[in-house]
This record gives sequence, C-alpha cells and structure tokens, in this order.
Amino acid sequence: MKTKIDLPDEFIKIIENNLGEESKDFFLALDQDPVLSVRNNKTKHLNFFDDEEKVNWNNQGHYLKNRPSFTLDPAFHAGAYYVQEASSMFIGYVLDKLPLKKGGLRVLDLCAAPGGKSTIIADWLAEDDLLVSNEVIKSRVGVLKENLLKWGFENHVVSNHDPETFSDLDGFFDVVLVDAPCSGEGLFRKDPKAVNEWSTDAVKMCSLRQQRILSAAALLVRKGGYLIYSTCTYNTLENDENVNWLSRTLDLKPEKIDVPSEWNIKNTNHGYQFYPHKTRGEGFYISVLRQEANLNNKTRPRLGLNKLPWQQQNILNPWLSEKALEDFNFYVKPDGNIVALRKSLLEDYGVVFNALFKRSSGFEIGIVKGKDFIPSHGLALSNMLSKSVNKLPLNKQESLKFLKKEGFDAEPAIEGWSLVTYEGLGLGFIKKMTERVNNYLPSEWRIRMELDN
Ligand code: SAM
Repeated sequence: MKTKIDLPDEFIKIIENNLGEESKDFFLALDQDPVLSVRNNKTKHLNFFDDEEKVNWNNQGHYLKNRPSFTLDPAFHAGAYYVQEASSMFIGYVLDKLPLKKGGLRVLDLCAAPGGKSTIIADWLAEDDLLVSNEVIKSRVGVLKENLLKWGFENHVVSNHDPETFSDLDGFFDVVLVDAPCSGEGLFRKDPKAVNEWSTDAVKMCSLRQQRILSAAALLVRKGGYLIYSTCTYNTLENDENVNWLSRTLDLKPEKIDVPSEWNIKNTNHGYQFYPHKTRGEGFYISVLRQEANLNNKTRPRLGLNKLPWQQQNILNPWLSEKALEDFNFYVKPDGNIVALRKSLLEDYGVVFNALFKRSSGFEIGIVKGKDFIPSHGLALSNMLSKSVNKLPLNKQESLKFLKKEGFDAEPAIEGWSLVTYEGLGLGFIKKMTERVNNYLPSEWRIRMELDN
C-alpha cells in the first residue's frame, strides 16, 4: 500500500495483522490531513468554539475546520482553551466512568508534560481534590507549570522525579495516569518525522521502558483505586501485552467501561484503541486497571513551610476573594514567596512534600516587599483573585501587545496595580507608576511572533 508517508514495512505488517482487510482504509486515512481540535476550559466560563462540531467523548472538545493562529489569540494565553488531539480527550470520559467519590481524591499524572492530560484531570476533579503532575525530563517541566497555571486549578503540585523515586507514596493515590513515552505510531499523520525514529527495536525498547514505569506506578495506587495507561501506538507490545504483563506480575485487574459502539472505538483484549479511519482523531490506546492489593502509605505528613505572619496576611487580604480567604491557608517559602494551600488538603500536601523533594510547594500567589504585595502571574489567571482588584480591559490588538511586552495606548486611571483583561479573562498584571507602566508578564511567557499592526 503506497501512502504519502513512507511507512516502514514492519509497521505495515503490524497494521495488516491487527486490521486485516480494514488496513486499506487505515492507510488511506493516513493520507488525510490530521484532525485539529481544542478543549474549552470549564472554569473560564467562555466557550469559544461552541459552534464547531463537538468531540463525541468530551463535552468541552471541538473540531476546528481551519487552523487559526493560536499564538495571536489572547484567550489562548489566558487558558480559555487547550489545543489537544481529539482521541486523547477520551481520558476525561474514562475518568467519568470510574466509581470514585469526589472530594479528597488524590490523582497522579506521572508522565505529564506538556500537561494536556493534566488539564483534563483538573477539569474532572472537584475543589477538594489534589493533582500531582510529574515530569521526569527537567527541560519539560517549565511548559507543564505554565499550562497548569493557565488552566487555573489551584490544588496542584508539579514535580520532577523519576517514577521509581515515588516509593514513599506507595498506596497514596486514588488514580495514577501513565501516559507513557512510546514509539509514537499514532502521530505519524501529524508528525511524519516520527516515522524516521520508528523501528521494531524502538518498539521493544519502549515496551520495556513502559514496564519499568508501570511497575513503579502500580504501587502508588491504593486498594480499589485505578491505574490508567495510555500510549499513542497501535502495536500490542506497547499496549495490551504490557497490560497483560502488569496484571500477571502485580495484583491489578483490567476493567471494562461502557463505550457507545457508534463511536467506533475498537475494544481490544484489555483496552480501547482509536484508529484514524474509524474515529476523528489520531491513533491512541487506553486501558484501565483496578488495584486489588493493599499498599499502605506510611509517610508522615509534614508541610515544612512557615505560616504567613499576620502583617503580611493583612497586606495580602484585599487581593483575594472571600472564598479564597476562607478555603486556603497561606505560607511563606524560604525565598519569601507566598503559597496558598487548600485547608482540606493540608495533610495530603504534607505527605507529598515529605516524599518528593524536586517539586513546587503549593499555589504561588506573590511576595510581600515592604508594604507592597507583588502578585504572581498565576494569581492573574486564577479564580482566587478578588473581584475588586482594579482592571484594565484591553481589545485584541492591545492584549497582544501586552502579551508581547510592548507598549500599548490604554492606561489605567489610577496608579498602582491593575489586572489586564481580555473578554473578561485575566491576562496578567501591570503597575502604573508616575512616569511609566510596568508589565509583569513573565518574560519567558512573552509572545515572540511578529504582530501585524
Ligand atoms: N501526558 C502528556 C500530555 O498529555 O500532555 C504527554 C506525555 S508524553 C506521551 C510522555 C512523557 O513521558 C513525556 O513528557 C516524556 O518526557 C516523559 N518520559 C520520558 N521518559 C520517561 C521515563 N523514563 N519515565 C517517565 N516519564 C518519561
């Protein structure tokens, strides 16, 4: 079968084995353009793409007919939506099907960068639940932090650990997601260069690495909790065979979930497979396993943070909504930055902070300098901010200039701090001084693309 992408013979064989006659349709689908989709942020209350066709398995997901410039859309920078491959949004559907009671849930996204699945988990969680998003590769942690801050879910910890160093958290989590590094077959249409890195040896190597990650991950799930495993591949070695291996080696049982047949997602022995000729999206595999073993968590909770002194608390109070002041405690880190931790989760934070050392320490909201409070960028993007903080609404062109850290004409009427907004969404802070206006957008978040004037 000849396709636009030059596929390795071994890969063609794998697909023909899996799909038989149907493989012709599969290869034809690889000649089509990849599907473009986005997912709206529920908490930002602006549903930008509601007129576009919906993704069957995710209410917030929409297919786009054309690719707009996301970089030049201020709402994208405010975290109003995430550009995400449609098949992978299925994780939200799987989470909805789990018989778990919200409120006090602890979820770990073990291979989390750049953070797409973490934002799905954040959407699913309730306000008293905790999300730990981990990424082993240090250079990828920045983008993970950025995407989580934009999404605005405060109860998260970002960590930078190898899965095997989580052992102090055995049996701690209700759900662990392993969205594993894989041979990337499912992305050939989106990223044809991935074909060059594919080989049967690479598949074997990925499969072994996945086993190492899965065996560490499985121990972190409490009895009755769930391990969710996903890859963007089709071969069984990285998918069903790994799930089979895991359920034979450890006490986890693959679970079935109800999936409407008209969605054309293929049931495999232990999971669910997305093929581009059957569903609108790229290749994807997912399986859910229930933990049967009882792994008790033994770590003692200890926050290791100092309570915010009352003088600083008084300076901070006008910045925060009444609800935030009621629901959170505030602490100072050794570097002076103030973090907010939800009161109902203090014990969980203690356990996580004790077990992991390369991690964030709660939701950073700013720092007190003298009598002034310097708000963090995360606070601008969060619902914790008081409605009475002064605002400077900008139009699209001005917003883009703000996001590029260039000058713009609009100026706040009063001196001091203002929240810059676009369509009601917080974009960041500025501070008006007598002579000038300072832009507090972090430089590394700045739009680097040229703007049309
Ligand atoms: N879940 C992410 C999302 O939805 O945005 C995508 C995750 S990507 C498929 C796999 C991640 O695993 C990458 O961020 C990669 O850096 C990380 N990774 C690579 N080697 C790893 C290892 N040995 N253990 C754990 N994670 C690893």
